[in-house]
Amino acid sequence: MDRLETMDYEDGNALAGPLRELFTADVTSAAGRCAGCGHTAVVADLRVYARAPGLVARCPSCDTVLLRFVRTPDAAWLDLRGTVYMRVPMSPA
Ligand SMILES: [Zn+2]
Repeated sequence: MDRLETMDYEDGNALAGPLRELFTADVTSAAGRCAGCGHTAVVADLRVYARAPGLVARCPSCDTVLLRFVRTPDAAWLDLRGTVYMRVPMSPA
């Protein structure tokens, strides 16, 4: 068991509230591809660590950091560098 497996984490549904300020779509149903291993998962299946500064979401397959979100009083910081892409389901345009 490595260090990350011993830390408490929540599933990606913990991102629903904080990301609702940025996106009008439900991001928890979006699918993202991991830049580390190529695994594709919906955001709800990510491992979310809330004890870091902000929220850190990791790949459930290889633990690569896919998303970092920090909310300050006057801004939201979203770092997606560990994500190759994110596919967000949308209603027909
Ligand atoms: Zn991965």
